This record gives sequence, C-alpha cells and structure tokens, in this order.
Amino acid sequence: MSEVIFPLAGKRVFVAGHSGMAGGAILRRLARENCEILTADRSDLDMCRQREVEEWLATAKPDAIFLAAAKVGGIHANTTRRAEFLYDNLAIETNVIHGAWRTGVKKLLFLGSSCIYPRETPQPMKEEALLTGLLEPTNEAYAIAKIAGIKLCDAYRRQYGCDFISAMPTNLYGPGDRYDLLGGHVVAAVIMKLHAAKSAGDPTVTIWGTGTPRREFLFTEDLADGLVFLMKHYTGPGHLNLGTGVDVTIHELAEAVAKVAGWSGEFVHDRSKPDGMMRKVMDVSRMTALGWRAKTRFEDGLRSAYEWYVAHVAERQAGHG
Ligand code: GDP
Repeated sequence: MSEVIFPLAGKRVFVAGHSGMAGGAILRRLARENCEILTADRSDLDMCRQREVEEWLATAKPDAIFLAAAKVGGIHANTTRRAEFLYDNLAIETNVIHGAWRTGVKKLLFLGSSCIYPRETPQPMKEEALLTGLLEPTNEAYAIAKIAGIKLCDAYRRQYGCDFISAMPTNLYGPGDRYDLLGGHVVAAVIMKLHAAKSAGDPTVTIWGTGTPRREFLFTEDLADGLVFLMKHYTGPGHLNLGTGVDVTIHELAEAVAKVAGWSGEFVHDRSKPDGMMRKVMDVSRMTALGWRAKTRFEDGLRSAYEWYVAHVAERQAGHG
C-alpha cells in the first residue's frame, strides 16, 4: 500500500455535507482516525452563500475538508430540476473551494460522480475519458457542475499550489440513503417498493425503464474508507474513480433486493420512465494500484441498507401512521 503523506491524527477535519448519505459514512469512518471532526448544520451555514462559507471557514479553521455537500438525486430529479442541480452544486463547490484557498486549508477532497463521463464512452470508464464526448442528457446539469468542481481543484492546485484532490464515486447505496420514490436513486427506490409490496402482500412491483441498464453500486462504508484512504495517501491533479469495477443489470439488482426482503413476485416495467445510460461501470485500476479496493459483498451491503431502511424509515412511519 502507498505511504501516508497526510496523516489525519490531531487535525481539524471538516465534513461538508455530513447529514447526507456520503457525509454520514465519512463521519463514521473518521471516528477511527483520532482527528477532530467539524460539521455545520444547514440552519447555521448555507453553502450556497459565499460570505457565510468564508466566515465559517475563517472561524472554524479546518486543516482538511471532505467536500461531500451537494444537491443529489436520481434520474427523475436530475432531469426535472436542472436549474437546482446546476446552480446549487456550482455554488457549493466554488464557495467551499475558494474559501478553502482563502483560509489556508491544507487539503481538500472533492466528491463528484461517475456521471461526469461521456454517454458513449468505452466501458469500464477510465479517468482519461473525461471531456472526450457529449454527456448523458438525463444527468447533464449535475455532470457539468461536477466537472467544474474537478477543474476548480486543478486550477487552485496549479495557480496557488493548493493540495485539492477529486474522487468520482460510482452509484452509491447504504444507510442514510434518500428514501424518496421520485427524487431518490434506484437502490433506495427498489428497497422502498419491495418492502411495501412485502408488507401489503402485493404480487407485483413496478420498476422504471426496461430493467436492462447496467450499473455499478458502491456501499457507503466502502466509499468512506476509500475517501479517507485518498485523503491520507494521495495527492495529484485530475480525479480518481472510486467504485467496485463490477456492474449488474437493474433487473439483477431488483432480484437481489427481493431476496434480502424475502419477497417473491413479478417485476413490471414502466417504460414511460427513462433508462438513462445503458451501462455505467468504473475502471478502478488506479485505486487498485494505490492499494485500495472495495470490500463489502453486494448481498451484505444490500441487507444492511434494507435493515437500515426498515428500522429508521419504514417502522417510524408506521409508528406515526
Ligand atoms: P442514474 O444512474 O443516474 O441513471 O440514476 P438512478 O439510480 O436514478 O437510475 C438508475 C437506473 O435504474 C435507471 O435506468 C432507472 O430507470 C432505473 N430504475 C428502475 N426503477 C427505478 C426507480 O424506482 N427509481 C429510480 N431512480 N431508478 C429506477
């Protein structure tokens, strides 16, 4: 494994976006690092406001930042709320990255997404594929913002010598996901639908599109482990893919969740909903060469996400209902 070049012990580490799925996982992982963790609640800090961000950073004085704050959503939210996805993400990135430079933050790790790559790019997607073709239209706004974030980190590195790095995680799932049928991503949506079908004894569950697109899914705890690894072990321009390198069809995902949920029935396809990219899987050879790989088995990750949903969302709703 590559050597530690930025130890976290004793450092003040700001997790921007700690209430999200990725941020929450980073907090849990950082608890093992002997560092001081800083967070800001949304009510105290609006990251779309430059002055608020700069004042907060000047007072909190973090040594390092995990920039996991973002406006995120699934294929429907991405297509119907383009202005929000573009504006909020550009604003958060520019404010936090610029503020980090102004306040002398020593290291920053920016989180993007696998949707930065061109729609027709060869699969598995390599880091070099960035900006070699047109983007997938269903998530173009989000992708443009995330590409700008990578370029911001590179520009501040080149012009000001800042140690700002970028990681592009693949599709994520796990505890703390957004359980929102219209706004969320496929794993959360399928978990919700299958749990509801099981509870109601429904024989069919509807999934969007044809079920044939292929996606790669990274468990949140693996994501956080990979990010902490990069913060400690890596420096350099550009970005690194963070994934498993393994993909499944949406149908296979649905079958795997059905097994975890203990539901057996039939899937119905709503073809009025888009498939999006037909295949999205990362080439993870750069991370592997650094000495890191994802460890969680897909079935184990899905079980943990499902159990979290039942305990934290479904049972609470039932309790209030
Ligand atoms: P994407 O990776 O940006 O396309 O994001 P999503 O996670 O939203 O969707 C992944 C794939 O799952 C797409 O092909 C969707 O059409 C498909 N899918 C199937 N059922 C659902 C669902 O209930 N919700 C979502 N969000 N996607 C679904």
